[in-house]
Amino acid sequence: MYDVIVIGGGPGGYASALYAHNFGLKTAMIEMDTVGGTCLVRGCIPAKAWLQTANVYAMVERAAEFGVTAGKAGLDWGAALARKNGIVTNVVKGLSGLLAARKVDVINGFGRVAEDGNVEVRSAEGTSVLETTNVVLATGSVPRSIPGWEIDGTRIVSSNEALDWTERPQRVAIIGGGVIGCEFASLLSETGSQVWIFEALDQILPGTEESAVKVLSRRFRKAGVTVTTGTPVGPPEFRGDVIVVTAGNTTAEVDVVLMAVGRGPLTDGIGLENTQVQVDRGYVLVDPETQMTNHPNIYAVGDIVAGTPQLAHAGYAEAIAAITHIATGETAPVDYRAIPSVVYTHPEIAWVGLTEQAARDAGYDVEVTDHSMRGLGRAQIVGEVDGVVRIVAEKGGPTLGATVVAPNAGDLIHELMYVVAWEALPTEAAAFIHAHPTLSEAIGDTLLAAAGRPLH
Ligand code: NAD
Repeated sequence: MYDVIVIGGGPGGYASALYAHNFGLKTAMIEMDTVGGTCLVRGCIPAKAWLQTANVYAMVERAAEFGVTAGKAGLDWGAALARKNGIVTNVVKGLSGLLAARKVDVINGFGRVAEDGNVEVRSAEGTSVLETTNVVLATGSVPRSIPGWEIDGTRIVSSNEALDWTERPQRVAIIGGGVIGCEFASLLSETGSQVWIFEALDQILPGTEESAVKVLSRRFRKAGVTVTTGTPVGPPEFRGDVIVVTAGNTTAEVDVVLMAVGRGPLTDGIGLENTQVQVDRGYVLVDPETQMTNHPNIYAVGDIVAGTPQLAHAGYAEAIAAITHIATGETAPVDYRAIPSVVYTHPEIAWVGLTEQAARDAGYDVEVTDHSMRGLGRAQIVGEVDGVVRIVAEKGGPTLGATVVAPNAGDLIHELMYVVAWEALPTEAAAFIHAHPTLSEAIGDTLLAAAGRPLH
């Protein structure tokens, strides 16, 4: 008899299983594929490995600027793919070791909640039933498509297949200018592919601070990426090996189409019909304090949860909330106000809390402070002066949100995470000292300006 069975071994699932060890809970985790899920195997980790290859390539192309003789940059796609695969293997191995050390029974198979609340596991060996007191659903998400654009895995692909391309595609149309679309556009354009982005809404990265998107859009223009926004794509036209994509006045003739229009929940067949779990278009509804569904003893975390961000680190936090409640009855709700988001494009964009528009929509009287990285010594040294920092605060009140565009913005954002999470006034946060010369100084300078006393 288990205390907890976790169905799904991605970030939400494995974090639940690992965290359960803190309370001595007897735990099993069911995974039908590889432990690590989308994030480790066909998402965050492999995508960022590819983006790092693109970064190194771009740096080598610019080597002469730094006084380094490196010759012309070349790309050995196979070697980059092998490096990516090696990184994935290492992180999966590390995770498997950690699960074993925490005494989690990892069971390979397809998990389904049975009528009596236990868990049925189907695998090549047959079907077995595992008894448990609690279940954590963490089955994750899969790429979505749009009508008329069926993902066939070769000519119309999702990020799953794109991460395993064995050679660089020459011409690529990306449908959807969200996070996946922009990250692939960045890495492909930087390594020599011709790229089109087709985004249905008026801006790529919808919902992101406009001033940050402008910086990325400028970079895309320089790299020859054609961005079409505000127009839906028509149906595909197949002319021999060429796929013709049309939206408004833009037509692209490409070798492959990457579908990046979002991810949908993977909850089919996991037995929810046997329970009182409430579902909205496949997403599971939970109590935000505890992650408990409408069915006592069944919890949900990660991408399948309705109305929360599909981010690995949100899944980790939801796992902590669910297991804390299972083990202690206490609540440890996720503070969604202060979850950082990072787009690993070149340059990186990261944000936390509210954008200017979101703050205005929420009824705040806002004060916005922008600061460019252009004058910063470290930005000149690194060779990336295109960065900006934006801080959004309530007039005379706390910091509500912040956005950073810079190399390693995803790392820089975390000091602003604390500022937003602790509802610090810009004047309070500005009192602390940033080291010189660093990129973080731009944040210190923005805080000083937001406090009404700019320095640089
Ligand atoms: P997304 O929601 O970020 O972007 C999808 C985009 O497609 C949106 O901009 C949307 O307006 C557009 N779109 C929808 N229908 C369209 C249509 N018919 N034609 C043209 N455009 C259309 O989703 P994604 O980029 O597919 O990523 C999926 C999930 O994975 C997201 O929740 C994302 O946060 C997560 N993810 C996160 C990271 C990261 O944190 N760095 C990286 C990759 C993926």
